[in-house]
Amino acid sequence: MAKKLCELKKLLKKDLAEYIINVNQPKFVCTKCGRVANEKKLVCSPAKMSAV
Ligand SMILES: [Zn+2]
Repeated sequence: MAKKLCELKKLLKKDLAEYIINVNQPKFVCTKCGRVANEKKLVCSPAKMSAV
């Protein structure tokens, strides 16, 4: 997935399963949008979340 999750609002319903795969074990949070993602590249302003 090339696009950032932050830009995928329109695709959420269409590709919900794929979206969930990218956020089910989030390690990064977007400091701009508050969105979380498994991979740094998936959000536009990533900040690492501390390990649980
Ligand atoms: Zn963002």
